[in-house]
Amino acid sequence: MATIGYLGLGTMGAGMVKNLVEAGHEVTIWNRTASRAESLAGVQRADSVEEAVSGRDFVMYCLADDSAVREVVLGPDGVLQHVQGPTTVIDLSTISPELSDEEAQGFAERGVAFLDAPVFGSRDEAAGGGLWVVVGGDDATFAAARPVLDAVSETVHHMGGHGAGARMKLVGNSVVAAQLQALGESLTLAKAAGLDLHRVLEVLAVTDFKSPIFDGVGPTVLADDYTPAFALDLMVKDVGLIQQFASTVGVTMRGTGEVSSTLAEAQAAGYGKENASALIKVIAKQGGVDLAD
Ligand code: NAP
Repeated sequence: MATIGYLGLGTMGAGMVKNLVEAGHEVTIWNRTASRAESLAGVQRADSVEEAVSGRDFVMYCLADDSAVREVVLGPDGVLQHVQGPTTVIDLSTISPELSDEEAQGFAERGVAFLDAPVFGSRDEAAGGGLWVVVGGDDATFAAARPVLDAVSETVHHMGGHGAGARMKLVGNSVVAAQLQALGESLTLAKAAGLDLHRVLEVLAVTDFKSPIFDGVGPTVLADDYTPAFALDLMVKDVGLIQQFASTVGVTMRGTGEVSSTLAEAQAAGYGKENASALIKVIAKQGGVDLAD
């Protein structure tokens, strides 16, 4: 079993740590807001990043965004300053490919193995050890990290060298964004046309265009439940990353542009801390309908 320093005990990190502990790993945690991690059982608590990461087999983190990774990992008292050769570092955050490349270079210069390994799935998949992980990095590091990645996931895909996981994550999230917008528009259309939305969801669940996102989000929209599992503010961040990434490779993504506009309106309406699915409330309002039962 491995010794692990884990940083970032938000929605995703807390679930992953629970599963790492259950798999028998010895986990030391650090979170900026220490009180947020108080209920986690079976872990050691560190008072600093240095204490959490020094001498561990693995250092793993799932932080909010680029600025959090810049501070906690690349900052003056960050992970990069305190890890040594035998440690393998795994970044599970959703961040820009450029920052992921910077991390890879920084760790390589220190002789520390590094993987970018962002995750698909949300709060329930994190808590249940059922995430879908996409990884960038070299073969040997990937092989050595399998036991800790397997502990938090249902599947692990090795996408290629450094940064391939970060890029795949944005490719996948472009589909998530499009599906949420499509669900909002289709439910709004159905409601305006007088269809029973429960029957509509039954049909969406069995067709050749069915989607676990429709199955998961659809009933919560009808129940008017926007409790955050994946905060709308984080989706705004992700859609911005997708647009920036697309422009660096010369691709136009019109659909993502539409989602970006809807999300901006949702943030302006004060839905940023609600679940990302709250963007559907904006679409429904524009359509002049209320989707809740
Ligand atoms: P979250 O609940 O908001 O947690 C964010 C974590 O980042 C917290 O531990 C937070 O610490 C930390 N953090 C933020 N800014 C920081 C800073 N400047 N310095 C130090 N720590 C900082 O977010 P989450 O939902 O777990 O998401 C984490 C990552 O996974 C994000 O990149 C997200 O896009 C990605 N992701 C999320 C989901 C999902 O469904 N939620 C799914 C796939 C991927 P504090 O507790 O102190 O604020």
